[in-house]
Amino acid sequence: MRRGIVLGMLLALGGLAAVKAQPPAADAPKVVDVEKVNDRLYVLRGANGGGNVAVFLTANGVVVVDAKNPGWGTPILNKIKELTPKPVTTLINTHTHGDHVSGNVEFPATIDFVAQENTKVNMEKMPIFKEHNGIGLPKRTFKDKMTIGSGADQIDLYYFGRGHTNGDAWIAFPALRVVHSGDIFAGKSVPLIDEANGGSMMEMPATLLKAYNGIKNVDAIINGHTPAQTTWADLKEYADFNKDLVTWMEAELKAGKTPEQVAAAWKVPEKYKGYSSTVSTLMGGMAGRAATLQKEMKK
Ligand SMILES: [Zn+2]
Repeated sequence: MRRGIVLGMLLALGGLAAVKAQPPAADAPKVVDVEKVNDRLYVLRGANGGGNVAVFLTANGVVVVDAKNPGWGTPILNKIKELTPKPVTTLINTHTHGDHVSGNVEFPATIDFVAQENTKVNMEKMPIFKEHNGIGLPKRTFKDKMTIGSGADQIDLYYFGRGHTNGDAWIAFPALRVVHSGDIFAGKSVPLIDEANGGSMMEMPATLLKAYNGIKNVDAIINGHTPAQTTWADLKEYADFNKDLVTWMEAELKAGKTPEQVAAAWKVPEKYKGYSSTVSTLMGGMAGRAATLQKEMKK
């Protein structure tokens, strides 16, 4: 079986976090940690839980971004009840991965489920949604931009192109000057490129730069997994880091190196202080990133 297919199955089954570490026992306690960003916005984290969840309180109800690993939907909903008596009205997903969407199936089927249109197509292939009769699949999609609500409650959803997958949504809360970037902004580390779900190493730098230039007035970013928020300036640096990485990789590949040789030769450039020299082994590690780029260069 192709690595991409195997990986896609792993992601669909267990989610990134479960693949990264020893999967927690099914009965391991699911403890949701709350970070209060301000009176109307919270970030829900939790060891082994998967991606960071945003909880936005609007006049009419609660809008949630992402829903973590399998079994975490109910703990998320219970935690929200501690924060507010308002009902959950909407769940937005940043992208298709199991550690961001699996909890969807535990949300009330009547709420609004929203995602970028390519992410809906990717999610429809996931076994968990087939097993739950499609509950939690997006009901409403967008292509490039969509706005939900207005005034203090406004949420802007953007898609700027391929990167981590082919459906990475950027979710902006303009009144709060905060964006949830999902996994396309991985913090100070080499990006994860999910080729099986349409990700692109080659287009990653341009996509990041489009986001940086396309969303205005942002102070803080909630990333897919990082323990602390990042800044809009960090996003610019991350776009530069990715551009330099792709430019360097292309030169190495053009010089005849194999993806494995490229991976062995890579070091964090001097100018990117604080960036991790450790590359996740997911998606083939650094050699996998180079192999993806090599395929894209041949197209
Ligand atoms: Zn992801």
